[in-house]
Order: sequence, then structure tokens, then C-alpha cells
Amino acid sequence: MAKNIVIVGGGSGGTIVANHLAGELKQQISRGDTKVTLVTDTPNHVYQPSFLYITINQVRLEDYTRSEKSLLKPGVELLIDPAVKIDTAGHTVATAGGKTLPYDILVIATGSYLDPTTIPGLAEAADVFYTAEGAEKLRDKIVNFAGGTILMTVDVPHKCPAAPLELIFILDDFYRHMGIRDKVNLIYTYPIGRLHSLEPVANFAAPEFEKRGINSETFFNVESVDPQKKVVTSLEGSEVPFDVLISIPAHRGAHVVHDSGLGDEDGFIPTNRYTLKADGYDDIYVIGDATALPISKAGSTAHYQADVVTANIISQINGLPPSRFYDGKVACFVEMGLDKATFISFDYNNPPVPLPVSEMIHWFKLSFNEIYWLSQRGLL
Ligand SMILES: Cc1cc2nc3c(=O)[nH]c(=O)nc-3n(C[C@H](O)[C@H](O)[C@H](O)COP(=O)(O)OP(=O)(O)OC[C@H]3O[C@@H](n4cnc5c(N)ncnc54)[C@H](O)[C@@H]3O)c2cc1C
Repeated sequence: MAKNIVIVGGGSGGTIVANHLAGELKQQISRGDTKVTLVTDTPNHVYQPSFLYITINQVRLEDYTRSEKSLLKPGVELLIDPAVKIDTAGHTVATAGGKTLPYDILVIATGSYLDPTTIPGLAEAADVFYTAEGAEKLRDKIVNFAGGTILMTVDVPHKCPAAPLELIFILDDFYRHMGIRDKVNLIYTYPIGRLHSLEPVANFAAPEFEKRGINSETFFNVESVDPQKKVVTSLEGSEVPFDVLISIPAHRGAHVVHDSGLGDEDGFIPTNRYTLKADGYDDIYVIGDATALPISKAGSTAHYQADVVTANIISQINGLPPSRFYDGKVACFVEMGLDKATFISFDYNNPPVPLPVSEMIHWFKLSFNEIYWLSQRGLL
């Protein structure tokens, strides 16, 4: 009987796994011995880091959007139909469209979503750049801003831990180039006692804030927002007025994970940090933002994990134990303004050491933005 491999979620991680499997299992798929099905909830695949550049009107959303189908190798069956329930006892995935897909091996790659609902006034008052619609809406405010306070608040957990810092540095440069930096008060807040969860990154950012006159407040956990008065109140008792509020709300794991009883209280799935199997399950792998692993939720994380998961699935199909182990590797190009960037790379055992800021690293980041699609096709 054919082995059914079902992947839920056609974003950065799920797409690479599907394509790697289609390549590795080409013969088995063509003989009908194995079936690889990718179930996702939207026909389009958007490159999320482009939101940073959309916000300042440097790129357009349509240039960083592809149809998911166009990214998949022959051999992957694509089903666009949201998964609504994973039955781990019956080994099936149920979809909103009424289908029930049996699986022998399941990969959960459903990412994360922004949840502003636990903070009164936040959804009403704040802009976000972590979604396509949010970035396009915020763009109009950013490019037409004539002066006042732009306040950024950050809640955890959230994906791409560097992106809030990147946007603050980009805005600093953007308004300098516009000739109105002296009229723009940039305030960045962070929930713990430094500018970033990774200490080396926080230490790297602090002198840049000082040099550029970017204001900050740490130990700042948003309690509520008054959309009429345009004031954010923190749990620590601060009140900060704003003209534009950019929020990175806490993220949660996908509803289907929660509804299937697979996640922790935030909907993230406890996962073996090395094999990437869901804790307690021999036939379920988890990658990317969906895991509850204590590492950065990033596209690079999903990419490295996709390689590990593919290899371990192949081993499992051949009756062998896991052959690849994820070492916690994450790598990020971090924009430090409009034309310079740094690079960090780290894993479970080695903390990041930011590289000296350079134009070259910025160009590497811009180059990767273009070749992302090759990585999704499994070619990088
Ligand atoms: C502004 C911004 C900048 C970023 N910059 C970087 C960067 O510079 N470097 C970096 O490495 N990362 C960056 N990231 C983070 C990166 O985009 C994510 O961490 C990465 O996309 C995670 O991959 P994933 O496969 O886990 O989730 P996603 O890519 O989000 O994919 C999840 C997929 O699952 C689908 N899905 C969800 N629920 C269901 C369901 N019930 N049924 C079927 N399908 C479902 C979703 O539609 C989506 O297609 C950035 C993110 C943002 C927002």
C-alpha cells in the first residue's frame, strides 16, 4: 500500500519539505508507492521579509508573491483547503472542504499568527508590518508622515526577532533622507531589560540607538492602548503617547494545532529539538514557527529544519532510525538602515556574534530576497 506523506502548511518550511521529498522519492512516487500531499490554506505564497521594504514603499507586494503551485515540483499533490483537525489516533487530517486525508507520516508546518486580542485597544489603534495587508496600510502612513512620534511596541513570542530593530533603523535612515528626521521622534520598546532577547544583539544595537537618537524603553509590556487619546500604557506603569503605533503583537500557533490538542497554551507544538518529531509521536514532524523550540522563529530556521525533516522521513520510510539532527542553526541578515546590514548566525550551543556593518551584507540580503524562490523550489 502507498505511503501517504501529508504536509500541512505551504509556507517557507512546508514548501521546501514537499519539494525535497518529491526529489528524493521520485521513483517511489512515479510507481505509486508513495504519495506526497501538501495541504495549505491559500493559493499564494508570499515572501514575508518583503513586508519590511513594502512599509517604506521600496517594493510591491505582487513582486514577492508567487502561486504555490508554481513553486512545487511535479510529484507533489497540492490541496488548497485549510486543515481543521488532525486526528493523531486515526492518523488523518480533516479539511474545511470536508476531505479526510490519511497519513503515514505527517509534517506540521502551519507557522504562526499575530494575536493582538489579549490587549485592550491594541487591534484598533495599532498598525502592523508583519502581515501583507498591514504593511501596505502602514506604508501610506509612513511615507506621508510629516512629523511626530512613531512608537514601536514588541510582545513575545514573535517571529523574526530582528525585524522590529530592522524597521526602526530603516525608519531612522528613511526620515534622514526625507530631511525630516529632526521632526520624527522614534521610540522603541521591549518587554525585557534590554533591546533584544539575544544579549549580543541587544549589546550591538544599544550604541546604534545612542548614535542615531532613537529613543527606547525596556521592561515595557503593553497593558492597554487608548485609541482615542493615542496613549499606550505598560504593565510597568509607563504611559507613552504616539501619533503612529507600530505593534508586533504576540504570536500564536495555528488554530488547527490548538483545536487538535497538539500545542502548548500558545498553540506551539512541543518538539524534539534534534529529530524534530512532535513529542510523543513517531509519525509527526514539526518545522518552522509551529514548534515550541526555544529558538528564533525564522525562515532560515524553517529551511535548515526542512533538510533535517526530509532526511529523517526518508530514513523512516526505509525502516531506519533518524539520520540527521537539527543543531539549532539560525542565520539572519539584519538591515541596519537603507543601505547597510549586519549578519548573525547561531545555534543551540553558540550565541550570535554580529558581523561588522557593511553595504556588502545589505546587498547579500537584497540578493537573497530575489533567490528565495530557488530555495523554496529546493534548489538552494
Ligand atoms: C516582516 C517580517 C520579516 C521577516 N524577515 C525574516 C528574515 O529576514 N529572515 C528570516 O529567516 N525570517 C524572516 N521572517 C520570518 C519568516 O518569514 C518566518 O519565520 C517563516 O516564514 C516561517 O516559516 P513556516 O513555514 O514556519 O511558516 P509560514 O511561512 O508562515 O507558513 C505557514 C503556512 O501554513 C499555512 N497554514 C496555516 N494554517 C493552516 C491550516 N489550518 N491549513 C493549511 N495551511 C495552513 C499558512 O497559510 C502558511 O502558508 C520575517 C517575517 C516577517 C513577518
